[in-house]
Amino acid sequence: MLIDTHAHLTFKDFADDLDGVIARAAEAGVTRIITIGTSLESSQHAVEIAQKYPGVFATVGIHPDNATRTPPDFIATLRELAHSSRVVAIGEVGLDYFRRTQERIAAEKSIQAAVFAQQLELAVELGLNLAIHERDAWDDLLALLAPFAGRVRGQFHCFSKSLAQAETVLAHGHLVSFTGIATFKNAPVVQETAARLPPGSFMVETDCPYLAPVPFRGKRCEPAHTRATAEHIAALRRMSLAELAAETTATAEVFFRFPTA
Ligand SMILES: [Zn+2]
Repeated sequence: MLIDTHAHLTFKDFADDLDGVIARAAEAGVTRIITIGTSLESSQHAVEIAQKYPGVFATVGIHPDNATRTPPDFIATLRELAHSSRVVAIGEVGLDYFRRTQERIAAEKSIQAAVFAQQLELAVELGLNLAIHERDAWDDLLALLAPFAGRVRGQFHCFSKSLAQAETVLAHGHLVSFTGIATFKNAPVVQETAARLPPGSFMVETDCPYLAPVPFRGKRCEPAHTRATAEHIAALRRMSLAELAAETTATAEVFFRFPTA
């Protein structure tokens, strides 16, 4: 049994066939899916989907791309949403400087940092862990996380960096998660990281509708494709899919503490 620890079931890509998407996931052995909030609206929507489908859980949070258009009292809304027993983390939260001019980074940096820091405080307050999004902002993100060491843990989602950087993440008490990128021929660095990290330090995810793994590359990704990524990583680690699934599922269960009822 596999868990897709990062899916965007709230995206309009899934609006027409969500029942089928979730059924196909279950057929592929992906029995649990965490659907991710990226704004107040999508967090609310994520909780609604998680309330409707027994195998789906939610995170609530403001993605750094949405930091500049979030109302000042957003934490109160997130806190209220997070009280649902279907919510298993705060996320996805973090920093993103990708494809931005220096001027734009300068203008956004402090806003992204403040929105992230407030959500770190909320995670500590609620005893929830974090789904972390980081793009082109590695040093700043680690600096913002540092004061929270030992109080909250992060899952560095869609991890696509080196083994050394993964080891830095682990040394600070956090974990990583791999998407379909780990199946791409042009991603040898991620493959080396996925092959060599210790068991218990990583999970799997799709980040669907993006990043469909080989052999689905270029198509709409969906949670069922977690299996193809897991198969590929199992092969890299010279173990069976069942063993890899058992390890990554156990890791995710400890990290997200899914409700049993
Ligand atoms: Zn995402």
